[in-house]
Amino acid sequence: MQALHWDGHELRFDPAYRMPKPRIVDGESKIVGATGGRPSGEAQSIALVKVQLAGVCSTDLQILKGYMAFTGVPGHELVGSVIEGPREWLGKRVVGEINFGCGSCDNCRRDLSRHCPNRTVMGIVNADGAFAEYVAVPVANLHAVPDTISDEEAVFTEPLAAACEILTQVQIDHGFDVLVLGDGKLGNLCAQVVNLTGARVTALGKHADKLALLKKTGVRTVQLNDWQPRLFDIVVEATGSASGLELALSAVRPRGTLILKSTIAGNHDVSLATIVINEINVLGSRCGPFADALDALAAKRVAVTPLIEAIYPLKDGIAAVAAAAGAGAKKILLRP
Ligand SMILES: [Zn+2]
Ligand SMILES: [Zn+2]
Repeated sequence: MQALHWDGHELRFDPAYRMPKPRIVDGESKIVGATGGRPSGEAQSIALVKVQLAGVCSTDLQILKGYMAFTGVPGHELVGSVIEGPREWLGKRVVGEINFGCGSCDNCRRDLSRHCPNRTVMGIVNADGAFAEYVAVPVANLHAVPDTISDEEAVFTEPLAAACEILTQVQIDHGFDVLVLGDGKLGNLCAQVVNLTGARVTALGKHADKLALLKKTGVRTVQLNDWQPRLFDIVVEATGSASGLELALSAVRPRGTLILKSTIAGNHDVSLATIVINEINVLGSRCGPFADALDALAAKRVAVTPLIEAIYPLKDGIAAVAAAAGAGAKKILLRP
């Protein structure tokens, strides 16, 4: 199959990359031996998904800078259809949660496979990802996509779920003053999701065109040049760069909450004294609930397609990734 492959040094288009191996437990097409201690059936079954669209995310660009020391096929944002798997999933249009838990540890048993210490992560940790014609996804990670959601919308499920995670972590009441730092893809989605709560959401960013997209969704916007420092109940740091943290920290009111969404390969150089002095709650926030994201897409409560910059064929994936890394680029999609 065709795939983009990262060997730790170079990203290459491979026209004959090895096919992923599906594994159907308690299913019809293939039975494999028991794998001690794990629940049988869905948790162990791995479906083969034909990728229809995959999204290039800043995490992918971080990976190409050495993040997680990953090698293999990158890509963790996708929509596709199941071509091998349990009968009830065959032919279904799906998105897939990206953390593949072991199914047997304490975290997995508590439904926290996103934090399984033995997990692999699609296109990020020891599992080939979606910049390919096919990707293997545990059946337990699949979510069917309602017909009312287009492929171009569904491919945003994973990043939108990450934005929805904020609402599972912190109570945001009507009238709360919330600052979202960063007008990139993640910042945009976070601002839209938080805006659904009735909070007063302000997005602070560098790019007039990206802020204009957010303004259309009812979010207040401020360009960095025009920033007048003031304090917010909640600040969401979604700049994707190490430099955002200091400004974010300075904008949280005493006893307020700072939510960190950026995952970056570098280190932060910032004093933590402000956190102590102002008694700031700091929350790390990563992957989130796919069901909530699909609900929001189905109800057209968030606008994601305006974030699409371009769709490239997979064979032009190198150019696509370069375009995604370009200054001010919006979402680049790959179509195998
Ligand atoms: Zn991502
Ligand atoms: Zn586990």
